[in-house]
Amino acid sequence: MNNDFLNQSVEFIKGVGPSRSKLLNDELNIKTVKDLIDFYPFRYIDRMSFFKINELPLNNSEVQIIGKIKSIKKTKVRYRDRLNCEFYDETGKIDLIWYRGFSWVEESVKVDKEYVVYGKLNWYGNKVSIAHPEIKTKESFERNIPRRLHGIYSSTEKLIAEGVTQKYFVKIIFNLLNSIQAHIKENLSASILKEFSLIDRYQALINIHLPESQELLSQSIRRLKFEELFFNQIGFQLTKNDRIIKLNGFKFEKVGNNLNDFYNKSLPFELTKDQKKVIKEIRNDFRDGKQMNRLLQGDVGSGKTIVSLMVMLIAIDNGYQSSILAPTEILANQHYNSIRELTKDLDLGIELLTGSTKSRDRTRIHRNLKSGKINILIGTHAILEDIVQFNNLGLSVIDEQHRFGVAQRAKLWKKNNPAPHILVMTATPIPRTLAMSIYGDLDVSTIKELPPGRIETKTVHKYDKNRLSVFSFLKKEIKKGRQVYLVYPLINESEKLDYKDLMDGYNSIIREFPRPDYQVSIVHGKMNSKDKDYEMNRFIKKETQILVSTTVIEVGVNVPNASVMVIESAERFGLSQLHQLRGRVGRGNDESYCILMTKDKLSEDSKIRIDTMVKVSDGFKLAEVDLKLRGPGDLLGTKQSGVLKFKLADIIYDFDILNEAKNCAEQILSRDPKLIDKENLPIRYEISTSSNSKNLWRYIS
Ligand code: ADP
Ligand code: MG
Repeated sequence: MNNDFLNQSVEFIKGVGPSRSKLLNDELNIKTVKDLIDFYPFRYIDRMSFFKINELPLNNSEVQIIGKIKSIKKTKVRYRDRLNCEFYDETGKIDLIWYRGFSWVEESVKVDKEYVVYGKLNWYGNKVSIAHPEIKTKESFERNIPRRLHGIYSSTEKLIAEGVTQKYFVKIIFNLLNSIQAHIKENLSASILKEFSLIDRYQALINIHLPESQELLSQSIRRLKFEELFFNQIGFQLTKNDRIIKLNGFKFEKVGNNLNDFYNKSLPFELTKDQKKVIKEIRNDFRDGKQMNRLLQGDVGSGKTIVSLMVMLIAIDNGYQSSILAPTEILANQHYNSIRELTKDLDLGIELLTGSTKSRDRTRIHRNLKSGKINILIGTHAILEDIVQFNNLGLSVIDEQHRFGVAQRAKLWKKNNPAPHILVMTATPIPRTLAMSIYGDLDVSTIKELPPGRIETKTVHKYDKNRLSVFSFLKKEIKKGRQVYLVYPLINESEKLDYKDLMDGYNSIIREFPRPDYQVSIVHGKMNSKDKDYEMNRFIKKETQILVSTTVIEVGVNVPNASVMVIESAERFGLSQLHQLRGRVGRGNDESYCILMTKDKLSEDSKIRIDTMVKVSDGFKLAEVDLKLRGPGDLLGTKQSGVLKFKLADIIYDFDILNEAKNCAEQILSRDPKLIDKENLPIRYEISTSSNSKNLWRYIS
């Protein structure tokens, strides 16, 4: 019943109602009471302490002052009315200024009465004022404003326009949390709380929204991070034990015609030592009768695709089907085309299934999958749908792991019985210790060496003021028949400013590189996938020489003829993202270039990052540098999406908590694998009720 309450629509929360509930859902994806409770602030303001006027900070921070109004004066400045109140306490005086909408102030504010004002300081010489402060009588302040730190929540213009303001959030969340203490159950055992000095769950939740002190805020964050990582590790441990104990897998013992023919006739190059090693590791997995769950990590361009193709051929030789799951349609398309090309001399059924597959083709693909006519199915998450049924799926490859989660892997498991072997490929190299902690349930293979003949991509740093020389360099490269990527940071695809940068950039490129001599493609996240593919394909087919894009190209595209990567505002990207982008060039055997464009003045941090990029080309080394360099970061690009998407925890920054949570989860499960000891019942209860952990229930029931 507790759970029912938390899963109720926010509509039923006091002060919300149907129209605001719809807004919260549309704008912030907040549907249930639980969603609202889990909607954590991203910063805090202090509504707890009061400043004395003679001790105000000499910056533009937001402050709260208690005092009295001395005078109220309406003046005209350049024909416009403004209201000026002198506000004082026993230590000094400050001006409160309104430029508009102040009739209520004139009417209700009284001289010599006590008020609490709150707002942002404005210094002009040694005079200080607050424009449009919040002003409340002392009584009203005490009734309405909790004496705590107040969370500030991410919001949208639309929400604010509809009255869903920061104050509104604080109010509904505070009321909600105050009224539902009984529904919030502790989900860690008493001994865990004690051992790791964690505060209880209810305290943590109320204090992450409206902290009673900085200290309690830190404790709340630590407690909630621990909880996230702990249940994540419990999940890994449970599925790992399960795999070792229960999951039998298909045995692929034969090497047959497809692999032999491919190896002898079609393989376009000699495999690298590492590629061979990985294929061997996978073949060992195929022979031992257990289901494989293997992570293949290899730097961008290290040649993971061919490895996956060859092991798929083994599956086919043993009478099984294979699939490749790609994170985007562009990538799925690309895999489809390159695998078709590589296997054109073999007699294989290969199909592509994505969101834009026409329904007639879809029906045919579904039928031919079921009958076994299709040997390899390549696609996006469309292939995870229940309606997609294989005749005999033996191996599933997942490309670019960090965009997919455990849930997706679980869906693939269910496509056959026993579950198919799973090969997860990621281009984001991470230090091994970290990999083991995160991908606790996967075995790890690594390709370190790049294919021979690769000429290291030359990386240079150019300031914006040298743009013209960069353009003339691009023209020279294009004249040689090469192609160019031009990438803009769209850190947040919804940010208008970023988007404007991109379009401005695109227009200036079109001016600088006019038709008919030059053709320019553009691809960004706001386009629908059909247009994206169209533009992308023009570039792949060499119909355009320049591809202007946002980071949508970051993951995996392969256009060997592209030899220059220009990254605009490179200072705004993280190291791993820069490295991923750089990996888009240098895929052929031509000299290739990565040009990092930045503004003239760089912060110390950005400078180190850019210099490191110029000096270091090895992705593993970069990852180590990144790990050292950064506090909170997203080395794995997991902030946006994917398996390691935590609300609070950052697996790099919070590596220590991750380790604690991991050891703790291991110990508990080794003593009580089914979580049935009385002490562990809170953990068991969480697994039985939380939607995140539901798929784990079968392991302990
Ligand atoms: P990634 O690991 O980033 O997915 P790809 O599989 O796309 O890399 O390979 C990058 C490029 O390197 C492709 O054009 C591929 O054909 C080529 N390649 C892969 N293996 C080798 C090899 N052993 N020798 C030469 N070229 C290779
Ligand atoms: Mg790839």
